[in-house]
Amino acid sequence: MGIVSSIPTFGKTAITLTVIVPYFNEACVLPELHTRLSSVLSSIDGQTEIIYVNDGSSDNSLDAVERFTSEASSIVSVSLSRNFGKEAAMSAGLAQSKGQAVIIIDADLQDPPELIPQMLEQWQQGYDVVNMQRSERLGETWFKRQSAAIYYRLLNTMSKSNIPENVGDFRLLSREVVDHINRLPERNRYMKGIFSWPGFKQTTLQFQREARHSGETKWNYLSLIGLAIDGITSFSVSPLRIASVIGFLVASSAFIYGMLIVVKTLFLGEPTSGYPSMMIVQLALGGIQLLSIGLLGEYVGRIFIETKQRPLYLIQSVNQKPATTALALECRA
Ligand code: UDP
Ligand code: MG
Repeated sequence: MGIVSSIPTFGKTAITLTVIVPYFNEACVLPELHTRLSSVLSSIDGQTEIIYVNDGSSDNSLDAVERFTSEASSIVSVSLSRNFGKEAAMSAGLAQSKGQAVIIIDADLQDPPELIPQMLEQWQQGYDVVNMQRSERLGETWFKRQSAAIYYRLLNTMSKSNIPENVGDFRLLSREVVDHINRLPERNRYMKGIFSWPGFKQTTLQFQREARHSGETKWNYLSLIGLAIDGITSFSVSPLRIASVIGFLVASSAFIYGMLIVVKTLFLGEPTSGYPSMMIVQLALGGIQLLSIGLLGEYVGRIFIETKQRPLYLIQSVNQKPATTALALECRA
């Protein structure tokens, strides 16, 4: 009994499904998303809630969402105090969610809401995580597709948790997994890795990722590279190990080469030459050293961010229509 009570109670709530929509400047697409999402949710058995998380939009996205919240008490609008990034916005949504199952979906309609019933079906069959894998990446360049493929391969060889390829943030998580994720203390939120970290029973569904409904992607190559480095350095220390191994290999070959030079000079003399080989060795060593120091810096930087213990995000407002109608019904019953 004592053991059971020390395990966190994964609060049973009446809400079956929470859908989290993080958005940043999506005013043009939000009404369409809301219509499609609401019609899908209305066909689902059980109570549902939608949490829109405004990640510091500077257009009138928030106004659009606040119009939806006036429709029903099951629609919640959470507004962060500035743009903290999608990873933080998703964390805010997860912390607010009450559903037994939680689905995260992009606002730009690249993840079709019509797939939600299929995802729920998998959850009802006992899966804790339903990953949605893109079978095709429509509206993305060849270069982006190829670099993504190489990156996932690299990430998975380096990190211990298995991060599924071509799975974005569109996925279903059970309450239990969400509770575990909410308790993870790290500031650096590489969500793709964090979602896979708890493990549990996982399944993957294929879907065709649509092109963006309107507007532009919020990621440029520079921010994608940043995200990629975050992913590797927050889920693996193997780059450090690789640096040590390269260092060891270079040092041992230098030693062997040094011995050769000594022996050669002793027996054959040394006509002064060797400027090119000198330069190459120096440049190579310098390059490797700088790279390794930079790598160390990445990890030290991460430790620096974590030790500050700043909150992941700040919530400026939470808006939800009071559940008056639901209460009135309950009173009559
Ligand atoms: N997003 C966000 N905060 C940001 C950037 C993006 O909440 O700082 C949201 C964005 O509004 C969208 C989702 O994250 O709902 C995915 O963004 P985007 O479509 O730009 O990424 P992509 O689909 O190109 O990976
Ligand atoms: Mg998108």
